[in-house]
Amino acid sequence: MAKVIAEYIDRLVNTEMRQMGGLPRGTTHQLYEAARRYHKDPLTYLAASKLIENIKPNDNVIIATGAGVPPWLPKGETDGPLGAASIARAIDIGLGGKPILVGEGRCMSPVAATVEAAGLMVCDEDLFSKRDHVAMTLEYPLGEEKGTKFAEELMSRFNPKAIICIEKHGPSASGKYHSIMGVGREPDTVANVKFLVELASSKKVLTIGVGDGGNEIGFGNIYDDVKRIQKYGPKCQCPCGAGIGTVTKADVLVAAAVSNWGAYGISAMLAFMLKKLRLIQDVDMEYRMLEASIRAGAMDGLYTDMSMYVDGTSCETQKSIITILREIVSNALVEQPRHW
Ligand SMILES: [Zn+2]
Repeated sequence: MAKVIAEYIDRLVNTEMRQMGGLPRGTTHQLYEAARRYHKDPLTYLAASKLIENIKPNDNVIIATGAGVPPWLPKGETDGPLGAASIARAIDIGLGGKPILVGEGRCMSPVAATVEAAGLMVCDEDLFSKRDHVAMTLEYPLGEEKGTKFAEELMSRFNPKAIICIEKHGPSASGKYHSIMGVGREPDTVANVKFLVELASSKKVLTIGVGDGGNEIGFGNIYDDVKRIQKYGPKCQCPCGAGIGTVTKADVLVAAAVSNWGAYGISAMLAFMLKKLRLIQDVDMEYRMLEASIRAGAMDGLYTDMSMYVDGTSCETQKSIITILREIVSNALVEQPRHW
């Protein structure tokens, strides 16, 4: 039954409604279909079931997020922090796992504010080790050299049982990073989380990538499809010419219309599989999470301002996605039909 539920959760979170003109249209279903061909099973089912298999109480889990660079997105986007906070919360309440959030230093105050709005206090390592319903945030240093060292430090210091990347860009074949519109970025302007994912992968630690464009960690699984589907897939707008698609793979790729929604889909599947509806945040919490991220400086990736939007979709839409996800899960958890 879980696969049937996930089939429709996958479809809901892959409903494309981005504004015309600003971002590519008509790509969401193609990226999703390619990811399904690669993985066979529904994507949110795969991610949730592997998290349940791999995370035991008190296991550390690293969640990476943070997209956007100054001057347009000086503290990052609203897409990413909310998904990361939703998953962090579901892992804490549902599995007793310990969430550690990492990303560019410039993005971490919105991430921390969002995680707290989701009910987990952000604290230091001492308190983190002593109680539940808390999270830690760490700055992932910019650049390749520091990024490699930090990946090694994270693995040895925390022994994480899963690495989850939400809207976290991975490099193209040239080693450069690219926006969805094909604008190139040097590795020393971003957190190179790919080193963490590659190291975790070599140690057989679960890796999950959630993304919406093809340039995020995980889309390396369907590299040739991204090249074919995205406008700047075959060739970027920068001199490297490699195209926007990332080469960085993950054990599970969750493709979605908005990365946050992919993460909410995983939380919803955890809610269904662990029979606890509250693992997926409610609409009031969703509102608080979005507001908190923006008050702390996150901006909508399309409008690049501090309005209550995510990837050009309104706050009402975020709440509607949550409403439908919760309805799917709560109706699926009914064992005897209700009579009115
Ligand atoms: Zn390029």
